[in-house]
Amino acid sequence: MKKIIITIDGWSSCGKSTLAKQLAKALHYVYVDSGAMYRAITLYFLRNNVDWKNDKSVKDALADIELHFATNEATGQTEIYMNDENVEYLIRDLIIAEKVSEVAAIKEVRVFAVAQQRKMGEKKGIVMDGRDIGTVVFPGAELKIFMTADNAVRVERRFKELYAKNPNITIEEVKNNLEMRDYIDSHREVSPLRQAEDAIVLDNSNLTIDEQLQQALSWVKDVVEK
Ligand code: C5P
Repeated sequence: MKKIIITIDGWSSCGKSTLAKQLAKALHYVYVDSGAMYRAITLYFLRNNVDWKNDKSVKDALADIELHFATNEATGQTEIYMNDENVEYLIRDLIIAEKVSEVAAIKEVRVFAVAQQRKMGEKKGIVMDGRDIGTVVFPGAELKIFMTADNAVRVERRFKELYAKNPNITIEEVKNNLEMRDYIDSHREVSPLRQAEDAIVLDNSNLTIDEQLQQALSWVKDVVEK
C-alpha cells in the first residue's frame, strides 16, 4: 500500500498524540511526537540555566543537544532521548509545560527541530503531531488533520493525566497552562499554530477513541486509494 505523510495539528490537549499513536499502530507507520522535542529542549535550557533571550546562548546550547526517539520494547511506545538520556517522563512535568511555549517561539529552536522532523519524514509512512506540522514541516503532506475539542473536555483530560503523577495539582493550574500555551502558540511570529487550508477538522469532544480512529482511517483510505 502507498505510504503517506499524516500530520496532526491542533490545540493543546485535544488528543493529538492519542490519535497519532492509534494511526501509527494501525498502519504500521512511525509516530513522531514533535512536542516532545520542544519539551526536551526546554528541559535542557532549564537544567543548564540557558538564557534563552540571548541568541548566542541559544545557539551554543542547541549545538550541545542531540535528540532521538527509540521504542520502549516493554510498552511498544516511542520515547525521546536527549543526549542519550531517556527524558520521556521528565518532560511531561508542569514545570516544562510552563516554559515550553516560550522556548518553542524562538526561531533558532524551530529551525533546529524542523530540520530533524523533515528528515524523519523522508521515507514517508509517518504520523507526526504538533502545531505547525501541516503548515510548515510537511506542507505537501497527503493527509492533514486539525484537531479540536471543547475547552472543558481538554482541561479535564489533561488534569486527569497530570493528577495521576502529582495529586497536588489543581484544575485551575492546568486550565491556565492550556490557555497560556494556546495563546502563545497561536500568536507567535514564527510558525504560529493555525489550521492548514487543506486540513480536515476533527472535533473529538463527543467521539470515543475508537470512533476517532475509524474516522481518521476512512480519510487515510480515501487518500491512499485516490
Ligand atoms: O504537543 P505538546 O503539548 O507536548 O507540545 C508542547 C509545546 O511545544 C506546545 O505547547 C508548543 O509550544 C510546542 N510545540 C510547537 N510546535 C510543535 C509541537 C509543539 O511549538 N510542532
